Formats: sequence, structure tokens, C-alpha cells
Amino acid sequence: MTGTPRGPALALRSTLPERPPAPSAEAAGAPAIEIRDFSFRYAPKAPWAVDGVSFPVAPRAVTAIIGPSGCGKSTLLRSINRLNDLVPASGHTGEILVDGRSVYAKETDVVELRNRVGMVFQRPNPFPRSIYGNVAYGPAINGGVPRRDLPDLVAECLQRAALWDEVRDRLAEPAAGLSGGQQQRLCIARALANRPEVLLMDEPCSALDPIATARIEELIFELKRDYTIVIVTHNMQQAARVSDRTAFLEAGRLVEFAETRTLFTRPTQARTEAYITGRFG
Ligand code: ADP
Repeated sequence: MTGTPRGPALALRSTLPERPPAPSAEAAGAPAIEIRDFSFRYAPKAPWAVDGVSFPVAPRAVTAIIGPSGCGKSTLLRSINRLNDLVPASGHTGEILVDGRSVYAKETDVVELRNRVGMVFQRPNPFPRSIYGNVAYGPAINGGVPRRDLPDLVAECLQRAALWDEVRDRLAEPAAGLSGGQQQRLCIARALANRPEVLLMDEPCSALDPIATARIEELIFELKRDYTIVIVTHNMQQAARVSDRTAFLEAGRLVEFAETRTLFTRPTQARTEAYITGRFG
């Protein structure tokens, strides 16, 4: 068969980078991401959407950001890979370090940062391309992967995103033909193809039905073996199910950051307790 991009089903050779068991920072017990007294606003005189927030994000674990609508969850998440830079006249103070390097440093290459820190959005947003073309797109334009290796890379990413078995026979079909849940897993595969260390997920299940949501939650559990994950969710049950640590924000400020189990069972702040017991927000 010619023209149909298909990855081999068996004996995949990994085209993703070899990951050492413990990167240096991780070995030293350092967080993968450090948010240090970080504030962000969308215009010079606007109120701070994120206001003096600090917490560490552990490597190869899931950190959830929760809080009422408008409290700054997405803004904080999008600051980690500088997606908010796209808003002209926005400003920040403080620092965010990814693997010990400041994301706002002058020398930071934003394209490289966004490859290292991938993003999955609320609504699945596949490109108007084939299933194969969506996953191959990033590595193909970045030029880092030889063309002949792309089929293996695509297959591996689709496997990691738990989508391979459903699409292996129709890789050349348009991504738009997939279900919402499949499209979201395709977007995860597409992010993985850029060889990220970190995956940021902004309410990744909010447009999905409960079955598709469960599949994404299982996938998040699998992915944290290899990736650092930060997830924004308005769904507290989801935060409790999938995350290891949780940050609770209110009006741009961090109210409490703790192990998820502790935060949901023995919060130290009255405001956290009010929120998780449904007394506000
Ligand atoms: P959450 O994710 O917790 O719902 P957001 O981070 O989206 O909160 O929003 C935090 C604050 O920033 C809100 O007051 C919101 O109106 C404001 N905001 C968000 N995005 C923009 C934007 N692009 N321009 C101006 N203000 C924004």
C-alpha cells in the first residue's frame, strides 16, 4: 500500500527521547515547576488575575488547580508556557521556573518552551488534517525527526494517548471524523509528539461525556509515569480522583496548596473547607 501513512503495529522502535530514570533536578528532589510569587494581569491598570501565587509542581505527578470560575486558574496555567504573552499590554511580576529555568527570561525560546510544556485545551481542537497529519505536524515542521521516523513516532504517541487501537486502520482519515473523546486523545497525542516534559491541561474533560471523561482520567493516570501534569478543573471530584496535589485559588490568590487527600479531607483554611463542601463557588 502506498500513500497511506501507517505505523507498524508491532515492535515499535521508540522515537521519543530516551528519558533517564531521574533527571538531575528530580534526583535532587527539585520540583519540575516552581511558581514564585507570580502575578499576572491582562492590562496595565487591570486587577491582577493571578496575585502573588507560589507553589511547587512535583515531577511525574498530577497537580490540580481548582477554584471558582474567574479565580485565575486558566491564567496561571497559560502563564506556565507563556500563552498569555499573546495578549498585548499584559504584564507579570514574580517568576515561573520550568526545570530550574525561568520561562520569562530574555533568553527563553518561547517556541521551544511550548514544545517542552505542551497544552491540551478545554475543547478538542484537532487541525483540519488527517489523524496521522495531526500527530506528525509538530515534529515535521520542527524538523527534528527524520521523515522516515515519523510513522513510528505517530504510532507511539497514539499508543501513549490510548488511541492507537481505535485509529490504526484509518490514520489517513480526517481527524474531524473522530468522536469528541477521541479528538481529545488525539490532541494529547499531538502534544506528546513534541516531546514535552510537562503537559498542561485546561479543563480537558469539560466538553466530554462521562465515558470519554473516564478514559481521559485513566490516561492522565498512565501519563504521569512519564510526564509532569498540571490540570485545571472546575470538577472537584475529578481533582480528587486524578491529582496528587491540589492548589486552591480564590480571586487570583492561593488559599491552600497540599496533598490532594489532605486538602479534601483536612483542609487547614476555612475558605477551602467552604469551597470543597459546596458552601460557595
Ligand atoms: P478561571 O480559569 O479560574 O475561570 P481565568 O484565568 O479565565 O479564570 O480568569 C481570571 C480573570 O482574568 C477573570 O477576571 C477574567 O475575566 C480575566 N481574564 C481572563 N482572560 C482574559 C483576557 N484574555 N483578557 C482580559 N481579561 C481576562
